[in-house]
Amino acid sequence: MLRISEIFYSLQGEGFHAGTPAIFIRGAGCNLACDFCDTDFSLKEKLEPEEIVARIAEHPAKFVVLTGGDPTIQAEGFRKLTELLHARGYFVTMETNGTSEDTLGVDWVTVSPKLSQGGDWKLKTGNELKLVFEGQDLTFFEVSNFSHYFLQPKEIRTGRFGKGERDLAATRAEWERTIAAAMARPRWKLSFQLHKELGLR
Ligand code: SF4
Repeated sequence: MLRISEIFYSLQGEGFHAGTPAIFIRGAGCNLACDFCDTDFSLKEKLEPEEIVARIAEHPAKFVVLTGGDPTIQAEGFRKLTELLHARGYFVTMETNGTSEDTLGVDWVTVSPKLSQGGDWKLKTGNELKLVFEGQDLTFFEVSNFSHYFLQPKEIRTGRFGKGERDLAATRAEWERTIAAAMARPRWKLSFQLHKELGLR
């Protein structure tokens, strides 16, 4: 049984697969509590992996994003779900904060470490490393084995935990320092939260 926050069909908004039609399966709960987190990962329903597979069959895409919260805190259930999805021809990706080395058997691993929020960074290999840029020393993160490296600017809001209005001037300043950091170390590419700009989920 998996604790689920939401299941929806949209476009992947971030990182390497930005723009790809994708079915999002958001597990409930996270092992971190980042002060810039704007994700509602509260528990909405409990579903068996088979029920999830049946539910998403209505969507034409065969591209799934396991996300959260963090899916690795329900490793057994998500691993079973991944097996079922593979048997039906889905390409399964996962977004994790990297505090666990478990990759759940998925096809594509996106790691987004949250060291400033007290999160250990254990998973140092995968397909893409996506860093919410806060001025970190990028050389530290380059001692890892990923195919793609992304910097993502922080969105600044008037309240904490994603509450309040977007602070346009402060957000623009974050974009500019992130762009400058990527241009200074071109191993890193800019990841932009396309879904937010387009008003998608
Ligand atoms: S790891 Fe991600 S989902 Fe969890 S609290 Fe931090 S930003 Fe939110």
